[in-house]
Amino acid sequence: MSGGGDLAATFRRLIEGHGPMPVSRYMGESNARYYASRDPLGAGGDFTTAPEISQMFGEMVGLWLADLWSRSGKPDASYVELGPGRGTLARDALRAMASQGLMPKVHLMEGSEALRQVQSGALTAATFHDGLDTLPEDGPLYIVANEFLDALPIRQLVMTERGWRERMVAFDGDQFVFSAGPSPMDDAVPEGRRAQPIGTVIETCPAAAATIEEIARRIDIQGGAALFIDYGYLEPRCGETLQAVKAHEKTGVFDAPGEMDLTALVDFATLAEIAKREGLAVATATQGDWLRAMGIDLRAQALSQRSPERAEEIAAAHARLTGTEAMGELFKVMAITPRGGQRGAGFG
Ligand code: SAH
Repeated sequence: MSGGGDLAATFRRLIEGHGPMPVSRYMGESNARYYASRDPLGAGGDFTTAPEISQMFGEMVGLWLADLWSRSGKPDASYVELGPGRGTLARDALRAMASQGLMPKVHLMEGSEALRQVQSGALTAATFHDGLDTLPEDGPLYIVANEFLDALPIRQLVMTERGWRERMVAFDGDQFVFSAGPSPMDDAVPEGRRAQPIGTVIETCPAAAATIEEIARRIDIQGGAALFIDYGYLEPRCGETLQAVKAHEKTGVFDAPGEMDLTALVDFATLAEIAKREGLAVATATQGDWLRAMGIDLRAQALSQRSPERAEEIAAAHARLTGTEAMGELFKVMAITPRGGQRGAGFG
């Protein structure tokens, strides 16, 4: 167990003392504990992300940001990353930006002390932030977040015989179980989606919504752009997507709170609406389409020619990042750019 003792036992005591807790609290506290104490990424960890698969991913992100920044004509700007993991994406993106003559200040929003240490090792000079509110207020912000939104706590709503209720985590005998909360939650479900069969689950992510709203506001005032990449959906939908992963395998969401990664698919449909409502321009694509439009095929060729002994590995990474059966379709890319400003590359 990591520092702080057994979170399952703590949750059990809390539930026995105060009643069931919302799924959002279960997920939020579980992930905070999970990330605080370890580096979960890579073959020896629990999961592998796109930047850990190949340098090409971060390079495409860096070129996308560099293109917009160059065209904006503004000299000083910041590179901002949310949930930078091992700092691999930042390192690759910043190298690609430097190849275009661009050297931004680097600001990282990271909740985990353990990962901050890893990021400090990967990058020469970075300023760390607990939240968005302390990011610089002068100059454009070029923001990226890969597999960050999916880790933010979701709220689940469940349709019952008495209408919509918040979905809770209860304790029954010797195990955690889902239950329905006591208060009517119909108002929290968009009107057009309220009529559903009993048992239907809808997920919302207030923390992701707040993140997008604040970032849209900042870009509107300061300039810049944001790129969010994550697994998720582009059309509104119902259904439960909360999942747990440990050692590269799916596991039960109640198996080991604090010791496994809890994620949910990102509702890009809703997040795009939020940014549009703030007046910003939004574009979305699948990861495969976007990477191809950004030139990943040529980049893979060039890398293979330079290191023929690595050609097979590069081809495998390319297939994993872009392939329909791999990450190419499930993962989506969402760009937020200023109203009336330049549009980002790669969105058809
Ligand atoms: N972007 C990286 C890591 C993804 S894992 C990559 O692609 O490899 C999720 C990252 O988000 C971790 O760095 C984790 O510590 C961070 N994170 C999760 N929830 C957070 C929160 N609420 N605030 C800040 N960082 C958070």
